[in-house]
Amino acid sequence: MCGIVAYTGNQPAKEILIEGLKRLEYRGYDSSGIFIQNSPPYLARAVGKVAELERRVWNSAPDGVAGIAHTRWATHGKPTEANAHPHTDCGDKLFLVHNGIIENYLVLKKRLLEAGHRFKSETDTEVLVHLIEAGYQGDLPAAVQKALLQVQGTFGIAVMHCDHPGSIVVARRGSPIVLGIGESASLAASDVSALAQHTDQVVYLEDNEIACLEPGNFSITTLDNRSVNRGTTNLEYDVESMDRGSFPHYMLKEIFEQPEAVENALRGRLNHAEAVAKLGGLESVQERLLQARHLIIVSCGTSFYAGLFGRYVFETLTDLTVETELASEFRYRKLNLRQGTVVLAISQSGETADTLAALREAKRKGALVLGLVNVVGSTIARETHAGVYSHAGIEVGVASTKSFLSQITILTLMALLIGRSRDLSYEEGHEIILALERVPEQIREILKQAEHIRQLAVKYCHAEHFLFIGRKYQYPIALEGALKLKEIAYIHSEGYAAGEMKHGPIALIDPKFPTLALALEDGSYERIVSNIQEIHAREGHILAITTEGNTTLGDLADDLIYIPRTHEAVAPLLSVVPLQLFAYYCGVLLGRDVDKPRNLAKSVTVE
Ligand code: GLU
Repeated sequence: MCGIVAYTGNQPAKEILIEGLKRLEYRGYDSSGIFIQNSPPYLARAVGKVAELERRVWNSAPDGVAGIAHTRWATHGKPTEANAHPHTDCGDKLFLVHNGIIENYLVLKKRLLEAGHRFKSETDTEVLVHLIEAGYQGDLPAAVQKALLQVQGTFGIAVMHCDHPGSIVVARRGSPIVLGIGESASLAASDVSALAQHTDQVVYLEDNEIACLEPGNFSITTLDNRSVNRGTTNLEYDVESMDRGSFPHYMLKEIFEQPEAVENALRGRLNHAEAVAKLGGLESVQERLLQARHLIIVSCGTSFYAGLFGRYVFETLTDLTVETELASEFRYRKLNLRQGTVVLAISQSGETADTLAALREAKRKGALVLGLVNVVGSTIARETHAGVYSHAGIEVGVASTKSFLSQITILTLMALLIGRSRDLSYEEGHEIILALERVPEQIREILKQAEHIRQLAVKYCHAEHFLFIGRKYQYPIALEGALKLKEIAYIHSEGYAAGEMKHGPIALIDPKFPTLALALEDGSYERIVSNIQEIHAREGHILAITTEGNTTLGDLADDLIYIPRTHEAVAPLLSVVPLQLFAYYCGVLLGRDVDKPRNLAKSVTVE
């Protein structure tokens, strides 16, 4: 959520900063702003897209060689120009951008107002710049440090002062900051996508650390003044993958990248001879993992539905008792995190604030905490005891598609790994491996039906409501399909376990309330067909996803999408793909901004 870019070097900062903001656009934002060090200082802010800020900057910005820039996702105060960052002090000498929330800002603001400070915005952020001003006696890092010690909440910040040309102070607690160090320039950003074209030498700032950047140089201390000796690490990052190529939207490109996403998730991780998975990231905790009795999966949004899928697959392949919990509710539960409990945190970005808070809580209570994240080097990846990367590649579209597929692939591998050390037979394990290996090709087959699915979207996209139903392994997929349709097309949609139909939602069914039924020929096929009969009897329209070769649904469903036959536990990797395409085409047909749906952010860094 929101993005920060900072640059100090020998090139005009404006191009680098604007380009960096564009790379961070996928994180979600509603306004943006830029400061360029110059005499007089240059400040521009704009509501809406970065392109709007860019237009103003090209017309008026000087060629200064240092500056900071920001995309804001409003938490306190409307998305207006006055509330956009950078914020300035009373003397207009300090410039600050902030990602996060200052929880005690009202108390601090009252004190600062009493001391005579004048506020120009409604944001929580502005207290920071006045606090720094109040404590400034010529030493910028010292003043920033002093201010941050008074603050409760989360922050990633970048600060500049007119009296210190070329110096940028950055700090973090709870919101990510990465430094990029080149030969004659230094950068900082919320994630590496904004740095990668300029340098491959990066430093991940930890919570409660503050860094001072000069061109080509950096130093880090903790907020309580201990010096930190950390070198740069080499960044492996494919800048090319950020481009859309010939696809009209990132979301479509990412849906079409799913065969490769699954291949990457499986690569080098299957052992046919032993019918087991190899997950290097879990080797260091293998002993504890083998003794585990109880697994709690914590996550949010699409990752939560991946977790629900995980519950079924772990229960099928292992003898673990499995619970899933929304990360934002984790702290309100009194879960037994006894010895033998494993907590698995799932997050695409690895920065999801709720998930991070949950994993810290679990760690404090002694659980073995594992991570399943996509972004290498992200906070969750660094704070868990061990974990697995999903290797989905960069995902730009705000709605998660290929990372969901990678997540459920890896959950299956984890279950296979643990299951094979317990009761799971070689045959059963091997059957799963063979089914997983067929998935990339089977997804390619499904993608060939994109035009058919687009036609169905033409037929259904004007529905005001949609119901998605599925059972067992297809139940999380029903939830995910409904989430996709609501976030991308803004169509009210509900996902339900099909058996729950008769306990409430069936009251809604009429000819204007269609249902998408996941009716694969698996162990629960007969039962879901009964649910479809019930809907049919009430004149509800049905769009069904079923198994290739099915001959019985033709009379009941209005429309059908066929997917290849596979193992029941592996079928979600296939059945979710038409649902993503359906949501995508509905969104496009309704004129939605499918890559950046309104009000949403890619990396949700506030709780
Ligand atoms: N809380 C700050 C604001 O509302 C920062 C929001 C953000 O992370 O973009 O301005």
